[in-house]
Amino acid sequence: MPRRVRAFESHDFYCINCGKKGIPISRKSGHQHGAFHRKAMYCPYCKHTINHIECRNQEEKEQFINDFLAGKYKEEAELGLLWEKEHPRYQNILKELK
Ligand SMILES: [Zn+2]
Repeated sequence: MPRRVRAFESHDFYCINCGKKGIPISRKSGHQHGAFHRKAMYCPYCKHTINHIECRNQEEKEQFINDFLAGKYKEEAELGLLWEKEHPRYQNILKELK
């Protein structure tokens, strides 16, 4: 049975570039995105702002890891890293995080 949390749920985000777990975000229950929602956030391992995939439970986590290992996100990750270098908006986000 899934763990129940009254008001907030912590969702895990996994970096599409390295596949590691990023910074968890607490969301209000009931205010949720669908499965495998993407969010651009800073990966402390890659040292880049890049899309992360939201995994809400163990099943989605395993699905992500399988997809990641199969190379599903490889192209997107490469594009994301290029995009970051060329877009000042992302540079500003990085500055704020430092
Ligand atoms: Zn990463």
